[in-house]
Amino acid sequence: MTDEHRQPEVNIGLVGHVDHGKTTLVQALSGEWTDQHSEEMKRGISIRLGYADATFRQCPDEDEPEKYTVDEECPDGSPSEPLRTVSFVDAPGHETLMATMLSGASIMDGAVLVVSASEPVPQAQTEEHLMALDIIGIDNIVIAQNKVDLVDREQAAENYEQIQEFVSGTVAEGAPIVPVSAQQGVNMDVLIQAIEEEIPTPDRDPSEDAQMLVARSFDINRPGTTWDSLMGGVLGGSLVEGQLHDGEDIELRPGREVEEGGQTEWRPVETTVRSLQAGGEDVEEATPGGLLGVGTGLDPSLTKGDALAGQVAGPPGTLPPTFEQFEMDVDLLERIVGETDEVEEISTGEPLMLTVGTATTVGSVTSARGGECEVALKRPVCAEPGAKIAINRRVGARWRLIGVGTLRE
Ligand code: GDP
Ligand code: MG
Repeated sequence: MTDEHRQPEVNIGLVGHVDHGKTTLVQALSGEWTDQHSEEMKRGISIRLGYADATFRQCPDEDEPEKYTVDEECPDGSPSEPLRTVSFVDAPGHETLMATMLSGASIMDGAVLVVSASEPVPQAQTEEHLMALDIIGIDNIVIAQNKVDLVDREQAAENYEQIQEFVSGTVAEGAPIVPVSAQQGVNMDVLIQAIEEEIPTPDRDPSEDAQMLVARSFDINRPGTTWDSLMGGVLGGSLVEGQLHDGEDIELRPGREVEEGGQTEWRPVETTVRSLQAGGEDVEEATPGGLLGVGTGLDPSLTKGDALAGQVAGPPGTLPPTFEQFEMDVDLLERIVGETDEVEEISTGEPLMLTVGTATTVGSVTSARGGECEVALKRPVCAEPGAKIAINRRVGARWRLIGVGTLRE
Protein backbone atom coordinates (compact mmCIF):
# COMPACT_ATOMS: atom_id res chain seq x y z
CA MET A 1 0.00 0.00 0.00
CA THR A 2 1.39 3.36 -1.01
CA ASP A 3 -0.82 5.60 1.17
CA GLU A 4 -0.20 6.42 4.76
CA HIS A 5 -2.34 4.33 7.05
CA ARG A 6 -5.92 5.57 7.32
CA GLN A 7 -8.24 4.86 10.22
CA PRO A 8 -11.78 4.01 9.15
CA GLU A 9 -14.16 6.86 9.97
CA VAL A 10 -17.58 5.28 9.55
CA ASN A 11 -19.15 1.87 10.20
CA ILE A 12 -21.40 0.46 7.52
CA GLY A 13 -23.47 -2.61 8.26
CA LEU A 14 -24.10 -5.30 5.69
CA VAL A 15 -27.52 -6.74 6.36
CA GLY A 16 -29.95 -9.00 4.56
CA HIS A 17 -31.02 -12.59 4.13
CA VAL A 18 -28.56 -15.46 4.41
CA ASP A 19 -26.78 -16.30 1.13
CA HIS A 20 -27.85 -13.10 -0.61
CA GLY A 21 -24.18 -12.14 -0.90
CA LYS A 22 -23.20 -9.89 2.04
CA THR A 23 -19.82 -11.49 2.64
CA THR A 24 -19.07 -11.66 -1.09
CA LEU A 25 -19.85 -7.96 -1.41
CA VAL A 26 -17.57 -7.04 1.49
CA GLN A 27 -14.87 -9.06 -0.17
CA ALA A 28 -15.38 -7.34 -3.52
CA LEU A 29 -15.06 -3.92 -1.89
CA SER A 30 -12.27 -4.63 0.57
CA GLY A 31 -10.39 -7.64 -0.70
CA GLU A 32 -10.87 -9.25 2.71
CA TRP A 33 -12.91 -12.26 3.59
CA THR A 34 -14.87 -11.62 6.78
CA ASP A 35 -15.82 -15.24 7.45
CA GLN A 36 -12.50 -15.86 9.17
CA HIS A 37 -13.38 -18.06 12.07
CA SER A 38 -12.91 -21.72 11.23
CA GLU A 39 -16.25 -22.69 12.70
CA GLU A 40 -17.87 -19.96 10.62
CA MET A 41 -16.14 -21.34 7.56
CA LYS A 42 -17.47 -24.78 8.35
CA ARG A 43 -21.02 -23.61 8.79
CA GLY A 44 -20.70 -21.15 5.95
CA ILE A 45 -22.25 -18.27 7.88
CA SER A 46 -20.81 -15.30 9.71
CA ILE A 47 -21.56 -16.29 13.28
CA ARG A 48 -19.78 -13.37 14.83
CA LEU A 49 -19.77 -9.91 13.43
CA GLY A 50 -16.88 -9.62 11.01
CA TYR A 51 -15.26 -6.30 10.23
CA ALA A 52 -13.35 -5.44 7.07
CA ASP A 53 -11.99 -2.05 6.07
CA ALA A 54 -12.08 -0.60 2.57
CA THR A 55 -10.65 2.63 1.22
CA PHE A 56 -12.90 4.22 -1.39
CA ARG A 57 -10.90 6.06 -4.02
CA GLN A 58 -11.44 8.18 -7.11
CA CYS A 59 -9.84 8.71 -10.48
CA PRO A 60 -10.37 12.47 -10.93
CA ASP A 61 -10.00 12.31 -14.71
CA GLU A 62 -12.87 9.84 -15.14
CA ASP A 63 -16.60 10.68 -15.18
CA GLU A 64 -19.13 9.63 -12.55
CA PRO A 65 -19.76 6.89 -11.66
CA GLU A 66 -16.67 5.36 -13.34
CA LYS A 67 -14.34 7.51 -11.25
CA TYR A 68 -15.21 5.57 -8.05
CA THR A 69 -13.03 2.56 -7.32
CA VAL A 70 -11.18 0.56 -4.68
CA ASP A 71 -8.22 -0.01 -7.01
CA GLU A 72 -5.03 1.95 -6.41
CA GLU A 73 -4.47 2.36 -10.11
CA CYS A 74 -6.73 4.18 -12.59
CA PRO A 75 -7.48 2.80 -16.07
CA ASP A 76 -4.90 5.24 -17.56
CA GLY A 77 -2.20 3.93 -15.21
CA SER A 78 -2.14 6.96 -12.89
CA PRO A 79 -2.57 6.44 -9.15
CA SER A 80 -6.09 6.89 -7.74
CA GLU A 81 -6.81 9.31 -4.86
CA PRO A 82 -8.17 8.06 -1.54
CA LEU A 83 -11.58 9.50 -0.52
CA ARG A 84 -12.21 7.86 2.85
CA THR A 85 -11.77 4.57 4.64
CA VAL A 86 -14.92 2.80 5.78
CA SER A 87 -15.38 -0.23 7.97
CA PHE A 88 -17.92 -2.86 6.98
CA VAL A 89 -19.65 -4.76 9.74
CA ASP A 90 -20.79 -8.00 8.18
CA ALA A 91 -23.86 -9.20 10.06
CA PRO A 92 -24.97 -12.82 10.04
CA GLY A 93 -28.15 -13.63 8.15
CA HIS A 94 -29.03 -16.79 9.96
CA GLU A 95 -32.39 -16.48 11.63
CA THR A 96 -31.38 -17.61 15.11
CA LEU A 97 -28.73 -14.92 15.27
CA MET A 98 -30.92 -11.84 15.26
CA ALA A 99 -29.38 -10.77 18.58
CA THR A 100 -25.94 -10.57 17.00
CA MET A 101 -27.37 -8.53 14.17
CA LEU A 102 -28.95 -6.14 16.66
CA SER A 103 -25.72 -5.80 18.64
CA GLY A 104 -24.02 -4.91 15.39
CA ALA A 105 -26.74 -2.43 14.47
CA SER A 106 -25.87 -0.36 17.54
CA ILE A 107 -22.42 0.33 16.09
CA MET A 108 -23.56 1.00 12.51
CA ASP A 109 -23.72 4.54 11.12
CA GLY A 110 -25.52 3.34 8.01
CA ALA A 111 -26.27 0.10 6.23
CA VAL A 112 -26.21 -1.65 2.90
CA LEU A 113 -29.22 -3.94 2.60
CA VAL A 114 -28.30 -6.79 0.26
CA VAL A 115 -31.23 -8.33 -1.60
CA SER A 116 -30.83 -11.16 -4.09
CA ALA A 117 -32.42 -10.52 -7.47
CA SER A 118 -32.99 -14.23 -7.95
CA GLU A 119 -35.52 -14.75 -5.13
CA PRO A 120 -38.97 -13.30 -4.35
CA VAL A 121 -38.92 -10.23 -2.07
CA PRO A 122 -38.88 -10.18 0.89
CA GLN A 123 -37.16 -13.23 2.32
CA ALA A 124 -37.54 -13.59 6.11
CA GLN A 125 -34.31 -11.90 7.26
CA THR A 126 -34.56 -9.21 4.62
CA GLU A 127 -37.70 -8.13 6.42
CA GLU A 128 -36.42 -8.77 9.94
CA HIS A 129 -33.14 -6.91 9.41
CA LEU A 130 -34.92 -3.94 7.86
CA MET A 131 -37.18 -3.85 10.90
CA ALA A 132 -34.11 -3.91 13.15
CA LEU A 133 -32.61 -0.94 11.29
CA ASP A 134 -35.90 0.84 11.81
CA ILE A 135 -35.83 0.09 15.55
CA ILE A 136 -32.24 1.20 16.05
CA GLY A 137 -32.95 4.28 13.94
CA ILE A 138 -30.53 3.72 11.07
CA ASP A 139 -31.90 5.57 8.08
CA ASN A 140 -28.80 6.03 5.93
CA ILE A 141 -29.42 3.03 3.74
CA VAL A 142 -28.28 1.85 0.32
CA ILE A 143 -29.92 -1.22 -1.21
CA ALA A 144 -27.72 -3.55 -3.26
CA GLN A 145 -29.80 -5.64 -5.63
CA ASN A 146 -27.29 -8.46 -5.91
CA LYS A 147 -26.82 -11.46 -8.21
CA VAL A 148 -28.18 -9.65 -11.26
CA ASP A 149 -25.93 -11.95 -13.30
CA LEU A 150 -28.35 -14.78 -12.48
CA VAL A 151 -31.48 -13.17 -13.93
CA ASP A 152 -32.54 -11.66 -17.26
CA ARG A 153 -33.43 -8.02 -17.77
CA GLU A 154 -37.16 -8.57 -17.29
CA GLN A 155 -36.73 -10.54 -14.05
CA ALA A 156 -34.32 -7.90 -12.76
CA ALA A 157 -36.87 -5.15 -13.44
CA GLU A 158 -39.65 -7.12 -11.75
CA ASN A 159 -37.45 -7.80 -8.71
CA TYR A 160 -36.48 -4.11 -8.58
CA GLU A 161 -40.16 -3.18 -8.38
CA GLN A 162 -40.74 -5.75 -5.64
CA ILE A 163 -37.93 -4.19 -3.62
CA GLN A 164 -39.35 -0.71 -4.11
CA GLU A 165 -42.77 -1.84 -3.00
CA PHE A 166 -41.38 -3.73 -0.01
CA VAL A 167 -39.43 -0.75 1.37
CA SER A 168 -42.17 1.81 0.84
CA GLY A 169 -43.38 3.05 4.21
CA THR A 170 -40.19 1.82 5.94
CA VAL A 171 -36.99 3.54 7.01
CA ALA A 172 -35.52 2.50 3.62
CA GLU A 173 -38.17 4.24 1.53
CA GLY A 174 -36.46 6.25 -1.19
CA ALA A 175 -33.06 4.60 -0.60
CA PRO A 176 -31.13 4.08 -3.84
CA ILE A 177 -31.38 0.55 -5.24
CA VAL A 178 -28.18 -0.37 -7.08
CA PRO A 179 -28.17 -3.51 -9.26
CA VAL A 180 -24.84 -5.31 -8.73
CA SER A 181 -23.10 -8.61 -9.06
CA ALA A 182 -20.79 -8.89 -6.06
CA GLN A 183 -19.32 -12.08 -7.43
CA GLN A 184 -18.49 -10.61 -10.86
CA GLY A 185 -17.61 -7.16 -9.49
CA VAL A 186 -20.29 -5.50 -11.65
CA ASN A 187 -21.44 -1.95 -10.85
CA MET A 188 -19.17 -1.52 -7.83
CA ASP A 189 -18.48 2.09 -8.91
CA VAL A 190 -22.20 2.96 -8.78
CA LEU A 191 -22.49 1.30 -5.37
CA ILE A 192 -19.50 3.22 -3.99
CA GLN A 193 -20.97 6.48 -5.29
CA ALA A 194 -24.32 5.70 -3.62
CA ILE A 195 -22.56 4.91 -0.31
CA GLU A 196 -20.52 8.13 -0.53
CA GLU A 197 -23.73 10.11 -1.05
CA GLU A 198 -26.12 8.34 1.32
CA ILE A 199 -23.90 7.30 4.24
CA PRO A 200 -21.86 10.34 5.28
CA THR A 201 -19.34 10.23 8.10
CA PRO A 202 -21.26 11.45 11.18
CA ASP A 203 -20.32 14.79 12.71
CA ARG A 204 -18.54 14.01 15.91
CA ASP A 205 -17.51 16.17 18.82
CA PRO A 206 -13.88 15.26 19.65
CA SER A 207 -14.25 16.79 23.13
CA GLU A 208 -16.87 14.22 24.20
CA ASP A 209 -15.74 11.58 26.69
CA ALA A 210 -14.78 8.34 25.01
CA GLN A 211 -17.44 5.68 24.96
CA MET A 212 -16.67 2.27 23.56
CA LEU A 213 -19.24 -0.47 23.02
CA VAL A 214 -17.51 -3.77 23.65
CA ALA A 215 -18.61 -6.42 21.15
CA ARG A 216 -15.95 -9.05 21.89
CA SER A 217 -13.28 -9.82 24.48
CA PHE A 218 -10.35 -12.20 24.35
CA ASP A 219 -7.47 -13.85 26.10
CA ILE A 220 -4.73 -13.76 23.46
CA ASN A 221 -2.21 -15.84 25.42
CA ARG A 222 -1.31 -19.30 24.19
CA PRO A 223 -2.01 -22.11 26.64
CA GLY A 224 0.97 -22.65 28.93
CA THR A 225 2.23 -19.04 28.79
CA THR A 226 4.20 -18.29 31.94
CA TRP A 227 3.06 -15.46 34.20
CA ASP A 228 5.97 -13.18 33.35
CA SER A 229 5.10 -13.10 29.64
CA LEU A 230 1.33 -13.09 30.09
CA MET A 231 -0.49 -10.40 28.06
CA GLY A 232 -3.43 -8.53 29.58
CA GLY A 233 -7.00 -9.04 28.40
CA VAL A 234 -8.09 -7.58 25.05
CA LEU A 235 -11.36 -5.81 24.23
CA GLY A 236 -12.81 -5.53 20.71
CA GLY A 237 -15.56 -3.14 19.70
CA SER A 238 -16.28 0.34 18.45
CA LEU A 239 -15.90 3.84 19.83
CA VAL A 240 -19.22 5.63 19.45
CA GLU A 241 -17.96 8.92 20.89
CA GLY A 242 -14.74 10.69 21.82
CA GLN A 243 -11.17 9.49 21.51
CA LEU A 244 -9.19 6.87 23.35
CA HIS A 245 -5.46 7.15 24.03
CA ASP A 246 -2.73 4.70 24.77
CA GLY A 247 -1.90 4.80 28.48
CA GLU A 248 -5.28 6.21 29.54
CA ASP A 249 -7.28 4.86 32.51
CA ILE A 250 -10.65 3.37 31.66
CA GLU A 251 -13.61 1.92 33.47
CA LEU A 252 -15.84 -0.91 32.30
CA ARG A 253 -19.49 -1.12 33.21
CA PRO A 254 -21.38 -3.08 34.45
CA GLY A 255 -17.97 -4.61 35.31
CA ARG A 256 -17.85 -7.87 37.21
CA GLU A 257 -19.94 -9.76 39.66
CA VAL A 258 -18.35 -9.93 43.11
CA GLU A 259 -19.47 -12.00 46.04
CA GLU A 260 -19.17 -10.65 49.55
CA GLY A 261 -20.74 -12.07 52.69
CA GLY A 262 -23.21 -14.20 50.71
CA GLN A 263 -24.33 -11.18 48.64
CA THR A 264 -23.48 -10.71 44.99
CA GLU A 265 -23.14 -7.33 43.38
CA TRP A 266 -21.86 -5.87 40.10
CA ARG A 267 -18.94 -3.47 40.38
CA PRO A 268 -17.25 -1.42 37.65
CA VAL A 269 -13.76 -2.59 36.71
CA GLU A 270 -10.92 -0.12 36.22
CA THR A 271 -7.84 -0.70 34.11
CA THR A 272 -5.32 1.02 31.86
CA VAL A 273 -5.12 1.05 28.07
CA ARG A 274 -1.81 -0.67 27.26
CA SER A 275 -2.14 -0.78 23.49
CA LEU A 276 -4.57 0.31 20.80
CA GLN A 277 -5.21 -1.22 17.41
CA ALA A 278 -7.36 0.48 14.80
CA GLY A 279 -7.76 -0.51 11.18
CA GLY A 280 -5.40 -3.41 11.94
CA GLU A 281 -2.45 -1.23 13.03
CA ASP A 282 -1.04 -0.02 16.35
CA VAL A 283 -2.05 3.57 17.06
CA GLU A 284 -1.56 6.10 19.88
CA GLU A 285 -5.03 7.55 19.55
CA ALA A 286 -8.26 5.97 18.34
CA THR A 287 -11.31 7.77 16.94
CA PRO A 288 -14.83 6.50 16.17
CA GLY A 289 -15.21 4.21 13.15
CA GLY A 290 -14.00 0.72 12.54
CA LEU A 291 -13.07 -2.07 14.85
CA LEU A 292 -10.94 -1.09 17.79
CA GLY A 293 -8.75 -3.52 19.69
CA VAL A 294 -7.78 -2.41 23.19
CA GLY A 295 -5.01 -4.18 25.09
CA THR A 296 -5.62 -3.70 28.82
CA GLY A 297 -4.04 -4.50 32.14
CA LEU A 298 -6.94 -6.79 32.99
CA ASP A 299 -6.39 -10.37 34.08
CA PRO A 300 -7.00 -12.28 30.82
CA SER A 301 -9.27 -14.71 32.64
CA LEU A 302 -11.74 -11.80 32.90
CA THR A 303 -11.81 -11.20 29.15
CA LYS A 304 -11.67 -14.80 27.94
CA GLY A 305 -14.37 -16.05 25.55
CA ASP A 306 -16.25 -12.76 25.11
CA ALA A 307 -16.89 -12.54 28.86
CA LEU A 308 -16.96 -8.73 28.65
CA ALA A 309 -18.98 -8.48 25.43
CA GLY A 310 -21.89 -6.08 25.87
CA GLN A 311 -20.07 -3.85 28.36
CA VAL A 312 -19.30 -0.18 27.92
CA ALA A 313 -15.83 1.34 28.40
CA GLY A 314 -14.75 4.96 28.94
CA PRO A 315 -12.95 7.31 31.33
CA PRO A 316 -13.74 6.48 34.99
CA GLY A 317 -16.83 8.27 36.28
CA THR A 318 -18.19 9.26 32.86
CA LEU A 319 -20.22 6.20 31.84
CA PRO A 320 -24.03 5.84 31.86
CA PRO A 321 -25.68 4.13 34.84
CA THR A 322 -25.92 0.38 35.35
CA PHE A 323 -29.40 -1.14 35.58
CA GLU A 324 -30.25 -4.48 37.18
CA GLN A 325 -33.89 -3.83 36.46
CA PHE A 326 -35.58 -1.14 34.46
CA GLU A 327 -38.83 0.20 33.15
CA MET A 328 -39.37 0.68 29.45
CA ASP A 329 -42.01 2.06 27.15
CA VAL A 330 -42.99 -0.64 24.68
CA ASP A 331 -43.96 -0.50 21.02
CA LEU A 332 -44.98 -3.93 19.76
CA LEU A 333 -44.74 -4.97 16.13
CA GLU A 334 -48.05 -5.82 14.52
CA ARG A 335 -46.81 -9.31 13.79
CA ILE A 336 -43.68 -11.38 14.00
CA VAL A 337 -41.86 -11.52 10.66
CA GLY A 338 -43.08 -14.52 8.67
CA GLU A 339 -46.03 -15.24 11.00
CA THR A 340 -49.65 -14.29 10.48
CA ASP A 341 -50.90 -13.98 14.08
CA GLU A 342 -50.88 -10.67 15.86
CA VAL A 343 -48.21 -10.16 18.53
CA GLU A 344 -49.79 -10.71 21.96
CA GLU A 345 -49.27 -8.21 24.78
CA ILE A 346 -46.30 -8.77 27.09
CA SER A 347 -47.41 -10.52 30.27
CA THR A 348 -46.07 -10.49 33.83
CA GLY A 349 -43.68 -13.35 34.50
CA GLU A 350 -42.70 -14.00 30.91
CA PRO A 351 -39.02 -14.17 29.94
CA LEU A 352 -37.78 -11.75 27.26
CA MET A 353 -34.45 -11.45 25.52
CA LEU A 354 -33.37 -7.83 25.39
CA THR A 355 -30.63 -6.21 23.33
CA VAL A 356 -29.31 -2.86 24.53
CA GLY A 357 -26.23 -1.52 22.71
CA THR A 358 -23.99 -4.54 22.27
CA ALA A 359 -25.45 -6.23 25.37
CA THR A 360 -27.92 -9.07 25.15
CA THR A 361 -29.54 -10.22 28.34
CA VAL A 362 -32.54 -12.23 29.44
CA GLY A 363 -35.08 -10.39 31.55
CA SER A 364 -38.09 -11.51 33.47
CA VAL A 365 -41.16 -9.27 33.32
CA THR A 366 -42.10 -8.18 36.83
CA SER A 367 -45.01 -6.01 35.77
CA ALA A 368 -46.66 -5.17 32.48
CA ARG A 369 -49.47 -2.79 31.71
CA GLY A 370 -50.46 -1.17 28.46
CA GLY A 371 -47.50 0.36 26.72
CA GLU A 372 -44.96 -0.13 29.49
CA CYS A 373 -43.28 -2.91 31.38
CA GLU A 374 -40.75 -3.52 34.11
CA VAL A 375 -38.09 -6.21 33.81
CA ALA A 376 -35.57 -7.75 36.17
CA LEU A 377 -32.36 -8.62 34.27
CA LYS A 378 -30.26 -11.72 34.61
CA ARG A 379 -27.18 -9.64 33.75
CA PRO A 380 -27.26 -5.89 34.27
CA VAL A 381 -26.68 -3.42 31.43
CA CYS A 382 -24.97 -0.03 31.23
CA ALA A 383 -27.17 2.31 29.21
CA GLU A 384 -28.39 5.87 28.88
CA PRO A 385 -32.08 6.51 29.65
CA GLY A 386 -33.82 6.89 26.29
CA ALA A 387 -31.78 4.03 24.80
CA LYS A 388 -33.58 1.74 22.34
CA ILE A 389 -34.09 -1.86 23.38
CA ALA A 390 -34.87 -4.68 20.98
CA ILE A 391 -37.44 -7.01 22.59
CA ASN A 392 -37.50 -10.69 21.68
CA ARG A 393 -39.94 -13.36 22.81
CA ARG A 394 -39.47 -17.11 22.80
CA VAL A 395 -41.66 -18.57 20.05
CA GLY A 396 -41.24 -22.32 19.68
CA ALA A 397 -37.51 -23.00 19.78
CA ARG A 398 -36.46 -19.46 18.84
CA TRP A 399 -36.27 -15.90 20.08
CA ARG A 400 -38.24 -13.68 17.75
CA LEU A 401 -38.28 -9.91 17.53
CA ILE A 402 -41.63 -8.62 18.87
CA GLY A 403 -41.00 -4.95 19.43
CA VAL A 404 -38.91 -2.08 20.64
CA GLY A 405 -38.56 -0.58 24.09
CA THR A 406 -37.30 2.81 25.24
CA LEU A 407 -35.41 2.88 28.54
CA ARG A 408 -37.14 5.11 31.11
CA GLU A 409 -35.39 7.59 33.39
P1 GDP B 1 -24.14 -14.08 2.82
O1 GDP B 1 -24.73 -15.22 3.58
O2 GDP B 1 -25.17 -13.00 2.58
O3 GDP B 1 -22.88 -13.52 3.42
O4 GDP B 1 -23.80 -14.63 1.36
P2 GDP B 1 -22.38 -15.02 0.71
O5 GDP B 1 -21.61 -13.80 0.38
O6 GDP B 1 -21.74 -16.04 1.55
O7 GDP B 1 -22.88 -15.63 -0.69
C1 GDP B 1 -23.70 -16.77 -0.76
C2 GDP B 1 -23.49 -17.46 -2.09
O8 GDP B 1 -23.92 -16.64 -3.17
C3 GDP B 1 -22.01 -17.79 -2.37
O9 GDP B 1 -21.95 -19.05 -2.99
C4 GDP B 1 -21.59 -16.69 -3.33
O10 GDP B 1 -20.55 -17.10 -4.19
C5 GDP B 1 -22.87 -16.45 -4.10
N1 GDP B 1 -22.94 -15.08 -4.63
C6 GDP B 1 -22.72 -13.93 -3.95
N2 GDP B 1 -22.87 -12.86 -4.77
C7 GDP B 1 -23.19 -13.34 -5.98
C8 GDP B 1 -23.46 -12.73 -7.26
O11 GDP B 1 -23.44 -11.51 -7.43
N3 GDP B 1 -23.76 -13.58 -8.28
C9 GDP B 1 -23.79 -14.92 -8.13
N4 GDP B 1 -24.10 -15.67 -9.19
N5 GDP B 1 -23.54 -15.52 -6.96
C10 GDP B 1 -23.24 -14.76 -5.90
MG1 MG C 1 -21.97 -13.93 5.19
